[in-house]
Amino acid sequence: MMAGLLFARAGVQTLVLEKHADFLRDFRGDTVHPSTLELFDELGLLTALLAREHDKVSAVGAVIGGREYRIADFTRLPGPAPFIAMMPQWHFLDFVADTAQRLPAFTLRMEAEVVSLIEGPRRIEGVRLANGEALEARLVIAADGRSSHLREAAGLPLQKLGAPIDVLWFRVPKARTPDNRTQGYIDRGEMIVTIDRGDYFQCARVIEKGAADRIRAAGIKRFRADVTISAPPLSAHVGAIAGWDDVKLLTVELDRLTRWHRPGLLAIGDAAHAMSPVGGVGINLAIQDAVAAANILAAALAAGVDPDPLLHKLRARRMLAVRTIQAVQRAIHRNVIGAAMRNQAPRAPALVRLFQAMPALQALPARLLGLGIRREHIRSPDASMTD
Ligand SMILES: Cc1cc2nc3c(=O)[nH]c(=O)nc-3n(C[C@H](O)[C@H](O)[C@H](O)COP(=O)(O)OP(=O)(O)OC[C@H]3O[C@@H](n4cnc5c(N)ncnc54)[C@H](O)[C@@H]3O)c2cc1C
Repeated sequence: MMAGLLFARAGVQTLVLEKHADFLRDFRGDTVHPSTLELFDELGLLTALLAREHDKVSAVGAVIGGREYRIADFTRLPGPAPFIAMMPQWHFLDFVADTAQRLPAFTLRMEAEVVSLIEGPRRIEGVRLANGEALEARLVIAADGRSSHLREAAGLPLQKLGAPIDVLWFRVPKARTPDNRTQGYIDRGEMIVTIDRGDYFQCARVIEKGAADRIRAAGIKRFRADVTISAPPLSAHVGAIAGWDDVKLLTVELDRLTRWHRPGLLAIGDAAHAMSPVGGVGINLAIQDAVAAANILAAALAAGVDPDPLLHKLRARRMLAVRTIQAVQRAIHRNVIGAAMRNQAPRAPALVRLFQAMPALQALPARLLGLGIRREHIRSPDASMTD
């Protein structure tokens, strides 16, 4: 959707195809980071975006073995919006869609499922929809998520990195508080993240990969009890988890394509690299890809230039950020989450103790998390300025 907005803004005829009838998915990438907010500021859209329902997270911390530590302080970041905006993904996508639909070059088609690629003699020339319709395109962008059908159809090579964890997501109601109480809890072999969403906590219980069936078999009562042992603030309302329908499994995957393109096709976002939920970076990296893709290609496409010789540049530009963040996530899987789940009486890692002792250092994790690596800025043209 973000790539659609930027290409259409540059005057490129752009069609976004979405197989579902709406964007309504409960809790999927609600963490809109400062890097993304900065991009909306550059587009002159930040005030309008923040007028939509959201919660502000200015700092994140953890309670480890009953002791509270503050780890990342976003208020120390430069930029127009030094906080994470927690915004339901459908509000965010509706906002981008509403904005893009004002551009004459933009079209969005819902309930339009792509089932195959149209292969020409030299390059991919378009896509075929489930209803049999054939759509020609000078460039197909595969932004169809972490189970991307298009990357597979294009034969792009996938490198799986593996992840030792899965996540169980659930909600627990809470009273509204003046401050945002987003927090991680590590205690007695359990790790729970509670994201403060105003009148409820969006909770993530981190589990060993494949352990979901065993946890379900032990019963929902036991699940509720385990959750409150490590995260006591949940105890008042944990009864709201009525059954397993209220608990969703996220199978964590970490992978990346070793090639992101073929003549006529480019993969971006989760289709190019599935991230771990650690740090809530997935949506923000997907958006950075979209911005980089538009920076590299939009002017050429608007001028009618063949995009194929430029396609390799996206991976070259974005791979450092993807590799680095995935390496950090793997280290956290191994050294922090693994240790937390093995240890009944955990002690905060030395780095966490250092951040607590020297608050100025909390800018460092905030920067890595909130602004990322090699962050993009809007450089693609705005056709309305040149008309
Ligand atoms: C439970 C869960 C929690 C998450 N939590 C976070 C978080 O807190 N923070 C964060 O940053 N990230 C989070 N993520 C990851 C985040 O959702 C993704 O990184 C991000 O949405 C990737 O964007 P994308 O556009 O590449 O892919 P997606 O958001 O997956 O979008 C792909 C779109 O393509 C559509 N589609 C798929 N196949 C076709 C087809 N054949 N034809 C037409 N349309 C198709 C899909 O319906 C979908 O709308 C979470 C993911 C999950 C599953």
